[in-house]
Amino acid sequence: MKYIASFDIGTTNVKGILVNEDATIFFEKNISLNVIRHGSFVEQEPQQWYDAVTRISKDWFKVGIKPKDIALLTFSGQMQDCIPIGEGVQPLRPAILYADNRATEQSKVLLEEIGESHIHQLTENHMDGTLTFPKILWLQENEAEVFQKTVNFLVSSKDYAIARLTGVYATDPTSAATTGCMDIRSRSWIGSWLERYGVKREQMPSIFGSDEIVGYVHEQGAAESGFAVGTPVLCGIGDAGAATLGAGVHDEDEVYAYIGTTGWVAAASFGFIDVRSGAFNLSYVDDGRQISIAPLSNAGNAHQWAMDTFGNGSRGDSLSYQQFEQALQRVERGQHEVMFLPYLNGERCPVQDMNASGCFIGLKPTTTKEEMGTAVLEGVALAMRQVLELLAKDGSNFRVTLIGGGAKSKSWCQIIADVLGCELVVPKDSQYLPSLGAAALGFRHVGWSQDYSSLCRTFKGLQKAEVYSPNTSLKAYYERQYDKYKRFYYAVAPLFS
Ligand code: ADP
Repeated sequence: MKYIASFDIGTTNVKGILVNEDATIFFEKNISLNVIRHGSFVEQEPQQWYDAVTRISKDWFKVGIKPKDIALLTFSGQMQDCIPIGEGVQPLRPAILYADNRATEQSKVLLEEIGESHIHQLTENHMDGTLTFPKILWLQENEAEVFQKTVNFLVSSKDYAIARLTGVYATDPTSAATTGCMDIRSRSWIGSWLERYGVKREQMPSIFGSDEIVGYVHEQGAAESGFAVGTPVLCGIGDAGAATLGAGVHDEDEVYAYIGTTGWVAAASFGFIDVRSGAFNLSYVDDGRQISIAPLSNAGNAHQWAMDTFGNGSRGDSLSYQQFEQALQRVERGQHEVMFLPYLNGERCPVQDMNASGCFIGLKPTTTKEEMGTAVLEGVALAMRQVLELLAKDGSNFRVTLIGGGAKSKSWCQIIADVLGCELVVPKDSQYLPSLGAAALGFRHVGWSQDYSSLCRTFKGLQKAEVYSPNTSLKAYYERQYDKYKRFYYAVAPLFS
């Protein structure tokens, strides 16, 4: 049998799957990764990523998969990283990860000197200290030797694995859209900015299409991984793009939501969403197509906080989630007026206020902690509805796919369907959807499918999913709550500063 081998190199683990013509997943494997944190610095050793990939591939070959059964390799990976690579594809220091915002000062200089509106015009994205370009400038100022020795600044964890297997320094337009120095329309580096700040064009990886072959497994890559010399390697796609493909979202106006620790609501589109709303634009698989993403700074983290505070378990274990679920089921929704503004970590979209905080209104002497816990989950759902409106004018016509750990809470899924007023589709085992999304990039090469629209329809057809329908008896209540919610932030905002 022929397989596509697909790896998703995340922050907490590397997942590898083999996928056949029917989009069935085989031999899924998962290897945990360590994160290095010191103060606000968040780093990871690139070698770990590559070791995990080669351990997974060698395990496949041990159980009887033949190297010649692998038609091609493809990847998805974390984005916004800064991975300085020296001679011989050697990392010169640990990779600086997306969550590390050490380069805030450098981003402020870029905003001042290049101008925010010009940055928005060219990148259709924000400039902040989490992006790759200001991180490169941080290295230039703080670790001059590393900067000088850097042959290439890779952007995504998967770029490193690809470089080790093929010797090619490449990245994809989805990942490059989060660097702060790609012209999103031409999908090329903004040469004048690189030059102005002393970064050589050849220090940046070549931008290939996600489904382009960037190279072939070379002898050393084959010796280390067990893949056959000459196996084609695709450029792959940044994790948000892989999640979008895996969720089966490709055509205009399709939407999905992701609830991890933080979250997002995203849609595929030929246009650009206005970045001043706090949303951002990522280049998607075909030229001219974008993923518009509205981030939620408060999602699973708010759920965890509610569980800790209003449940009775300790942080994060599955028993405490279960007990919290049972407690929520005792609440008669629609009967209480408690509302929660979920801005525990401030918010970026649709309001940009890092001083904002969480607030309850509507507390009465009779309010129970279960009602307060429910209000927290409702608050995140109301925030989702608000960003969904940015992406799609009339939310009621949509079915929204929900992926990520938050979808494990059935009570929350029902609350989200009720608050959004639309069907919520929750695929089972959604943890492998990004790897499946990355695998989709190879289907055309192998001759298994010709276009992403039909492939996404196939994925959706195959997915075992649970569908949550909105409860019509709660429609009027949540309309009222939503009207109030839209005014909530503005009423309390003067108190945050
Ligand atoms: P990340 O990859 O960002 O760590 P995950 O996709 O693992 O995020 O999602 C984490 C969130 O999933 C938690 O904050 C919580 O809201 C939810 N979650 C995790 N496990 C469970 C569970 N057993 N039951 C209900 N919700 C859960």
